[in-house]
Amino acid sequence: MLESFLNILESVLGPPGAGLPLHEPEFRGKEWDYVKECLDTGWVSSVGRFVDEFESAVAKFTGAKHAIATVNGTTALQVALKLSGVRPGDEVIVPALSFVATANAVAHAGAIPHFVDSCPETLGMDPLALKEYLSSIIENTADGIRNRNTGRRIAAVVPMHTFGHPVDLPKLLEVCETLRIPMVEDAAESLGSMIQGKMTGTFGLLGILSFNGNKVVTTGGGGAILTNDTTLAKRAKHLTTTAKVPHRWEFFHDETGFNFRLPNLNAALGCAQLEQLPDFLRRKRLLAERYRSAFSSSSYFSFSVEPKNFTSNYWLNSVKLKQASMQVRNEVLNSANSSGYHCRPAWNLLNTLPMYQQAPQSPIPVATMLESSLINLPSSPKLVVKDR
Ligand SMILES: *Cc1c(COP(=O)(O)O)cnc(C)c1O
Repeated sequence: MLESFLNILESVLGPPGAGLPLHEPEFRGKEWDYVKECLDTGWVSSVGRFVDEFESAVAKFTGAKHAIATVNGTTALQVALKLSGVRPGDEVIVPALSFVATANAVAHAGAIPHFVDSCPETLGMDPLALKEYLSSIIENTADGIRNRNTGRRIAAVVPMHTFGHPVDLPKLLEVCETLRIPMVEDAAESLGSMIQGKMTGTFGLLGILSFNGNKVVTTGGGGAILTNDTTLAKRAKHLTTTAKVPHRWEFFHDETGFNFRLPNLNAALGCAQLEQLPDFLRRKRLLAERYRSAFSSSSYFSFSVEPKNFTSNYWLNSVKLKQASMQVRNEVLNSANSSGYHCRPAWNLLNTLPMYQQAPQSPIPVATMLESSLINLPSSPKLVVKDR
């Protein structure tokens, strides 16, 4: 089995050479020119033309009315939650199967993550299961929906698009709208993923993106808040730039703001990266198709294809063990990494981490099974030769 895994990887990727990372950035556009312009002009920090241009380009690509650039995706989510009405002491529904940032952003906003299960097809929140679960624990009060067990308000639902595969946003939105709980999308991994032509990150009241070094496009570190609500967009920019009231020389701040604005230097990198995004996405699809085909006759592994009718950006390709087993998963990971293919597991479930063990949670059988069966495969766009 281990041998067959390595053979399939080699058939798709070729020999690993000095080692094939999980996801490497690629800088073959105007990165050097734009970053040099920042250094030449001295505009390296939070003011400069690239920040505005980057925000416009992100808004244009995603179809969001507004994009507000931040220093990373975690801070983008923290601010988006606050803007959606999350207050200290509230609970926020998040998937147990996610990167730690999803839950950390909730905690940084003073709220408590409330973990729910995933569904096997999308690897993210299951609308039907969520609806059933919530109806079994909530009560309606004058101040919104409350968790009957804890007495706390449930203030937002944060679906996450695992490895770029869209969750069923139309159905989730229906559940959220019925309960009048705002949806804030963690689209950190899914820039370019779509449902019927509409980009993930633009379905909820607010959505967030990440431009960390391992994401589809990078600014070094960076993030963005997306929204179609002009008032929220203005508040997002104000809050992330120290809440300073614009004035030629006076320092008047009207609330406790954050210093979360993306520097021009990072935005310059991002502008050059976004120009190449369509080509990155095209090559990532080709790579996914090669993996899908190579794993199609495997008796042990099934390739995670995009959910039916949805378009994934295939940020990280993954296979699932047909028989979930932590021990086998770890053996496969050991063998692949020793051979130079830097495969990774999915994250340890967030509800099992020390700081979140006591947090409220639904039964998590599917995510538990997924944790012991998912294996991420090297997914850099450069694994498919450019211009071919
Ligand atoms: C990358 C990521 C984030 C944001 O991470 P930053 O490193 O802060 O940009 C948030 N949620 C998920 C699911 C992610 O994968």
